[in-house]
Amino acid sequence: MTIHDRMPNPARKFLLAGRGGLNLTHSEPLDQCLTRYGAARGHLEPAIRAFPPQALKDWCEGLGVETFVGSSGRIFPKSMKASPLLRAWLARLDGMGVELVTRSRWTGWQGDALAFDTAGERREAQCDVAIFALGGASWPRLGSDGSWQEAFAGRGARIAPLKPSNSGFLVSWSEIFRDKFAGEPIKRLRLKFGEHEARGEAMVTSYGLEGGAIYALSAHLRDAMKAGGAVILEVDLVPDMTQDALAAKLSGAAKDSMANRLRKAGLSPVAASLIREDEGGPVLPAAPGDLARRIKGVRLKLAGVAPIERAISTAGGVSWDSLSADYSLKADPSTFVCGEMLDWEAPTGGYLLQACFATGRAAAQGAVARLSATA
Ligand SMILES: Cc1cc2nc3c(=O)[nH]c(=O)nc-3n(C[C@H](O)[C@H](O)[C@H](O)COP(=O)(O)OP(=O)(O)OC[C@H]3O[C@@H](n4cnc5c(N)ncnc54)[C@H](O)[C@@H]3O)c2cc1C
Repeated sequence: MTIHDRMPNPARKFLLAGRGGLNLTHSEPLDQCLTRYGAARGHLEPAIRAFPPQALKDWCEGLGVETFVGSSGRIFPKSMKASPLLRAWLARLDGMGVELVTRSRWTGWQGDALAFDTAGERREAQCDVAIFALGGASWPRLGSDGSWQEAFAGRGARIAPLKPSNSGFLVSWSEIFRDKFAGEPIKRLRLKFGEHEARGEAMVTSYGLEGGAIYALSAHLRDAMKAGGAVILEVDLVPDMTQDALAAKLSGAAKDSMANRLRKAGLSPVAASLIREDEGGPVLPAAPGDLARRIKGVRLKLAGVAPIERAISTAGGVSWDSLSADYSLKADPSTFVCGEMLDWEAPTGGYLLQACFATGRAAAQGAVARLSATA
């Protein structure tokens, strides 16, 4: 068996995920976990039930990498790194006789052969089955650039358009806010968009906002933007205090400067400046009730979705109606597909890697079954 990867070394995005601690999967009950896959749940469910979070945790520990459950229920390796796990995994594959060819870019089919550009040289390979795990189109400099779409469409697969998922959003910041606060986190906020809410952290960037709480709402925000609606995101900067309690606190400091009132109300410098980025303009109301309302509902107009190159993951891909239950293409039963190439999305929380591993295993089992059937 041979693995081809176009990059000089494999699994670059997996290693990048390790920089954030490598959130492998989630410990919540399986039925709840399955709801995270939204519209694709029915398609992914058999693979995830066959290789659930516990199995992924056991696989990781079987490679000598201990895991732990974080306070939010997310599962990580104890080292909070991807590299020890990847090293052990590659060593196991090497021991099994698997050949890894790096700098080897798959460029399409040549008849029934797979065509590669391997370190600048054209190569062809005949094989009985091929499993494709070429990823989506986020972070293309790490290898996955979505360039497989044309060849797959030519092979009879329907491709749902690739879209950013768990992405940031563009906000037209004032110059002063952007210059001063790009790169600053805003902690402990609550975001609201229609009936959808998310708590957590957001990061101010030069182009807008990204971070966990934004990602949690990103599919709803993206789809609303596509539908053409004006998208206003409401930010509650003091989610643990009622508006009345906040107003009382602000009136206690009514004689102070605005900066001091906001500081005494518990707002960090970035949060205190964010309230001037509200749709209503930079002038702040002086009356405590009105000021409290502004702090608990800053209205930010989103100007667009951040480019897919910056997104954590990709929605869209090879559509489920192009696939058989064993993860092979209906139009070519010797071609198997898994991971982010498939048409699904999920929030952050370990659900992405969980589905990638589960579909990878299902596709591999499909390939093995086909090999036995055709031997
Ligand atoms: C910053 C960041 C942090 C993340 N953190 C987490 C996390 O903590 N938990 C989580 O669950 N998910 C996380 N993710 C998402 C997760 O990394 C992805 O969902 C997952 O890596 C997708 O796996 P995949 O195998 O489908 O594709 P990829 O990991 O993108 O792998 C695709 C591989 O195919 C190769 N390739 C592509 N095209 C070709 C070609 N034509 N020829 C040969 N090789 C090719 C690429 O070089 C690459 O090695 C994170 C993502 C990012 C960007």
